[in-house]
Amino acid sequence: MTSLTAAHAADLVAALLFVLSLAGLSQHRTSRAGVAYGIAGMALALTATVVVASRSISAGAVALILLATAIGAALGLWRARRVEMTEMPELIAVLHSFVGLAAVLVGWNSYLEVERHGDAQSAVAADLLSIHHAEVFIGIFIGAVTFTGSVVAYLKLSAKIASRPLVLPGKNALNLGALGAFVALTAWFTASPGLGLMVAVTVLALLLGWHLVASIGGGDMPVVVSMLNSYSGWAAAAAGFLLDNDLLIVTGALVGSSGAYLSYIMCRAMNRSFLSVIAGGFGIEAPAGGDAEQGEHHEIAAREAAELLAAARSVIITPGYGMAVAQAQHPVADLTRRLRERGVEVRFGVHPVAGRLPGHMNVLLAEAKVPYDVVLEMDEINEDFADTSVVLVIGANDTVNPAALDDPASPIAGMPVLKVWEAERVVVFKRSMASGYAGVQNPLFFRENTSMLFGDARQSVDQILQSLDAADPALSARP
Ligand code: NDP
Repeated sequence: MTSLTAAHAADLVAALLFVLSLAGLSQHRTSRAGVAYGIAGMALALTATVVVASRSISAGAVALILLATAIGAALGLWRARRVEMTEMPELIAVLHSFVGLAAVLVGWNSYLEVERHGDAQSAVAADLLSIHHAEVFIGIFIGAVTFTGSVVAYLKLSAKIASRPLVLPGKNALNLGALGAFVALTAWFTASPGLGLMVAVTVLALLLGWHLVASIGGGDMPVVVSMLNSYSGWAAAAAGFLLDNDLLIVTGALVGSSGAYLSYIMCRAMNRSFLSVIAGGFGIEAPAGGDAEQGEHHEIAAREAAELLAAARSVIITPGYGMAVAQAQHPVADLTRRLRERGVEVRFGVHPVAGRLPGHMNVLLAEAKVPYDVVLEMDEINEDFADTSVVLVIGANDTVNPAALDDPASPIAGMPVLKVWEAERVVVFKRSMASGYAGVQNPLFFRENTSMLFGDARQSVDQILQSLDAADPALSARP
């Protein structure tokens, strides 16, 4: 078998490993295996690519590729080891921006390469030239939209810029106009390619990517993250066409289609129009809402919350982003165990977009060894709140906001939420009256049956545990 045939076979195996990886990642139980398949597939794909490249480039160039791979791997390992769970979405957004940038560079390189050879003795056969031109243009367009879109997503997710949507006058017309201009420029470029058009499409796509994501409000960011994931896949597939690399095309298509499907699922979970979100909030006008307080709130001390819990028949805990920030999952798991030992029914209600990543809360609760059978999805538990003694809202805000159901002018109107306010008593763990990620005030905090337990969620749960211990030392002594 020649090294080329072996490399093609390796490509096929790598593609299968990526499919197995996606299948594995779709369930908790098999997710570790999914990650292992992904690592194996990527290692194989890199090796095969370098082997194929080494046939047509100098030894010095191969050494450069290996050096770049080693630097990239070292940086990736260093970042992945240091990243906090709460910073994961930002990291993912940065990684998507790299894929977008790579697709832009591949497109430019491919254009300049063909130009350097001149059309007549080009590396691309004359009759395929216009297809090649279209590939260059589409690759650069998708890559540049992904690049700036991901940069804006990173800035919003890391709170370096406000998460509220940018509403330029005629924003929908701007987006549609940019798409129309892209189609016209592509037709022009395939007929008569030129450097000016390359610059024009790059600038146009960079601006469009920026505007598309800047126009989307905080509440819709989960969809944006998965949508950019999808775009990065299509950008990689476009680069695969230009580099004549089948594996990159297959991998890009896998990422692109699974990201698109995830965006669709998230849109359904949030009752959002898929097309509206991918078109930069198309049809959504300037939202009302703000973080002004809406009445008086009542405070509660940890000791009183412990008394409430000790007397409760049933408790539902609804965790949110604040639980991740406070790293409160371990004391929360302890509290769950302690209450269950006292005969209290304790369950968790997990909203599909709680936290900053799909599945964020499930990962934290699994890490703290909370039994799977008491962790329920929103739809499974939403009708049970009315029959619950106490709800503990631990660092959640937007996902328990009744305005989503009651206030049609709210930026999160229509998003399904956990109906915690239907319980007898609600205790909200947070540090201040600040609004959640979507930047809207939460009327839940001002309801008669709601009490605010101010402070870091971890410390508050620890204090509740201490109060329970003091009240019943016999139970706390058990392992
Ligand atoms: P929110 O982001 O709405 O609110 C989190 C709350 O936690 C804040 O009110 C904050 O209040 C509180 N908090 C922060 N730190 C602490 C701490 N140390 N101790 C106690 N409380 C703390 O959370 P939700 O999970 O309810 O909603 C998620 C939001 O993020 C939604 O708007 C969703 O659309 C968006 N999003 C979700 C993504 C996903 O994939 N899941 C991705 C991107 C965005 P205070 O500062 O007063 O303490």
